[in-house]
Amino acid sequence: MLPLSEAWTRYEAIRDRLPDAAAAGAMRHAEGLLEIADGFDGFLFDSFGVLNVGETAIPGAAECLTDLRRRGKSIRVLTNAASYTGDAALAKYQRMGLDIARDEIVSSRDVTFANIDKVAPNVRWGAIAADDDIFADADDLRMFDLLGDSQPWDDAEGILFLSSARWDEERQERLVASLNARPRPVVVGNPDLVAPREGGLTIEPGFWAHDLQDRTGIRPVLFGKPYSDAFDIALSGLKGSRFAMIGDTLHTDILGGQAAGLSTILITDHGLFAGRDTAPFIAESGIVPDFVLPSI
Ligand SMILES: [Mg+2]
Repeated sequence: MLPLSEAWTRYEAIRDRLPDAAAAGAMRHAEGLLEIADGFDGFLFDSFGVLNVGETAIPGAAECLTDLRRRGKSIRVLTNAASYTGDAALAKYQRMGLDIARDEIVSSRDVTFANIDKVAPNVRWGAIAADDDIFADADDLRMFDLLGDSQPWDDAEGILFLSSARWDEERQERLVASLNARPRPVVVGNPDLVAPREGGLTIEPGFWAHDLQDRTGIRPVLFGKPYSDAFDIALSGLKGSRFAMIGDTLHTDILGGQAAGLSTILITDHGLFAGRDTAPFIAESGIVPDFVLPSI
């Protein structure tokens, strides 16, 4: 777990590794999404802190999605999640009663698998993944569980970081030593530094990736918000031109949305800034959304 102050300091410290912030948005306040929805053709929803917290839908989220569909708005979920497959994400939304189709979900895991060959083709990846991950959606990619018993880490021709669930300082030390001894490409499927969960902020793959870069000089390739590949995939095939990214974080959702040329909507009552005044964070970072809503 990491306190928000530390996560925030770290996000600001790596700003030169993130896209540039656009001109400040107008920061208009509204009570809910439906109040401003008619100004847009569609929406890219972040998941955690916007549609759900953990396994629970945020109150009003299901009704909001239904109303948006009735108004003919396009809907995409663009989530930095790499520990589980898109099919698992779909099942989760269905359990929560959220009307979202599989082809409306773009996870950073999807973006990673779609682009990893461009980083290093035909490489055998040692994957840092969740315990039960069998890489069912990895198609033709060659990979093995780096944390399984049988394979030496030196067998990996590249490192693919999908989940921090089984990662810790000791393993990070070992990986730093391994990569310093023999540099290899590193790909990261979730650029988030932290994720808000029950009980605090958990450390996510992006956090370890930036530490790795500091200590090995290897520049990991990260897929997901705020980087452009995620937005390219999420926006492909959408009709219209007026889209907004809705999220609870400034350095991934809002910054990424701005860099992709979208309008941006910050949610303040759930997720990263829940229970905090967001104004000082917006002022310090200079990442200023177009709209601020307590909740969708
Ligand atoms: Mg979020």
